Amino acid sequence: MKQSMTLIPTLREIPADAEVKSHQLLLKAGFMRQNASGVYSFLPLGKRVLQKVENIVREEMDGADAVELLMPALQQAELWQESGRWYTYGPELMRLRDRNDREFALGATHEEVITSLVRDEVKSYKKLPLTLYQIQTKFRDEKRPRFGLLRGREFIMKDAYSFHSSKESLDEVYKKLFQAYSNVFSRCGLNFRAVIADSGAMGGKDTHEFMVLSDIGEDTIAYSDTSNYAANIEMAPIVMEYKRSSEALKEMDKVKTENQKTIEEVAGFLEVSHENLIKSLLFKVDDQYVLVLVRGDHEVNDVKLKNLLEAGSVELASAEETKTVLSCPVGSLGPVSVTEVRIVADHAVEAVVNGVCGANEEHYHFINVNPGRDFNVEQYADLRFIKEGDPSPDGSGTIVFAKGIEVGHVFKLGTRYSEAMNATYLDENGKSQPMIMGCYGIGVSRTVAAVAEQYNDENGLVWPANIAPYQLHLIAVNMKDETQAQLANELYKELQGERFEILFDDRQERPGVKFADSDLIGLPLRITVGKKASEGIVEVKVRKTGEVTEVNRSELAGTLASMLKSI
Ligand code: ATP
Ligand code: MG
Repeated sequence: MKQSMTLIPTLREIPADAEVKSHQLLLKAGFMRQNASGVYSFLPLGKRVLQKVENIVREEMDGADAVELLMPALQQAELWQESGRWYTYGPELMRLRDRNDREFALGATHEEVITSLVRDEVKSYKKLPLTLYQIQTKFRDEKRPRFGLLRGREFIMKDAYSFHSSKESLDEVYKKLFQAYSNVFSRCGLNFRAVIADSGAMGGKDTHEFMVLSDIGEDTIAYSDTSNYAANIEMAPIVMEYKRSSEALKEMDKVKTENQKTIEEVAGFLEVSHENLIKSLLFKVDDQYVLVLVRGDHEVNDVKLKNLLEAGSVELASAEETKTVLSCPVGSLGPVSVTEVRIVADHAVEAVVNGVCGANEEHYHFINVNPGRDFNVEQYADLRFIKEGDPSPDGSGTIVFAKGIEVGHVFKLGTRYSEAMNATYLDENGKSQPMIMGCYGIGVSRTVAAVAEQYNDENGLVWPANIAPYQLHLIAVNMKDETQAQLANELYKELQGERFEILFDDRQERPGVKFADSDLIGLPLRITVGKKASEGIVEVKVRKTGEVTEVNRSELAGTLASMLKSI
């Protein structure tokens, strides 16, 4: 493609509202433009990268025996009412009415549409398993669209759905697609981890998120420093055992701790370690209150709490609620003599000897408190967040944290949708059974941004060869110089003939502008036709390393091919 013929509107300045590198650079290098908050046009270069990612996704999905189709973005409300999500999905679902006042949603996801389609078309176990996917625009009215393509309101997703007559079949396809996802993100050059995630209200069991490691990620990943283990921190179980010290039990006592509210303050004031403190928090679990105890150096993990109590919702009680239920301020909460609410505690609390806790009275704490003797706990369980330095749950290595961007999600749905929407098949005995389902998403446009986030330097983008919009950037330093212009034009034709993807900067711009734009756009290799054009010699520069080599035109195609393979 000749640069004079395409649209690559590079900017000199970074747009003010772009906070993260990928957002800044994709705008600055002319890959995309914003239309409305969270809504973007892909310009020619952006579209090419998107297409490359889509093609990798297609190859890997097809390789895993998934079949592509295309479903409507405009979805009847009735389907969402059948699944029940019309009422629970909330304001993220964009809803609209047609001229006859019928309600519709713009597809945020396609479980409903696909379940109704398969329900109508597949009747027998003989057609199962079946895995279908599409690559399509999704709409979600996100509360905070931000970071450009990373959290849009209109974005491109690959979503796949599998249908099965047995759990084993689902397990098998899940495994295959898990591998396909790993292949996709590896081929995109991403540094990622597949992490164990929370299956939440969906009711499934196995679920993994594919996380690209990045400081701007919204999720925290706990992973082992030596093994493959990685989990969303909400999900990582604690495997360590807590040892009780052999210290003799002392008499419990009430002490004045005026204005010492936080764990930090109380520990400092009483000169005890955080590990000796029992932190008490009142939670509202569905419509009940529960007092949750963890050690002073630990944090309550609300997902674990929710799962333990099999609750629909879990949230910290407000200061007013705490006052009403236990007649004391939040900073003075403790379990001694509490009978109004259930008490559950993290395992670590059980091992505390002569601990400190709030006295349920403003400005007072108990010291030398001992679980079992001074208060009772209904249930001890794993209720805290894992910490850096804890042993890895798989028994190998130590936990470290990293931030991640979720680019993909695989999920065993079970019969959540097939039961609600009556998607059944006849088994070998002619008996009607609900189909077992899996769903699998990749944020295709988010993946483009995640690559841009991982691949850049102070001069611009640095695309990995697999998904670069073009592989080669051909530049003639001075298009007015006839020798240079002629050689550049000849090389452009030759290299195209050799099936290279090539962007040719044929503009009448100053060399400085051309080089700056070229660095900004970030194609893997740059071929510069300059002073040595008359000798048939050009320069090849590797964008990533800055390494420059002089190459004779007769050897150019071969050299480029082998260089592309090695970067
Ligand atoms: P998030 O927690 O980031 O909102 P999600 O759990 O809502 O993601 P899924 O419903 O699992 O996401 O969607 C599948 C994939 O679609 C995600 O893994 C992510 O890569 C992508 N995705 C989700 N929401 C957005 C968005 N607003 N913009 C861009 N990509 C998105
Ligand atoms: Mg979301």
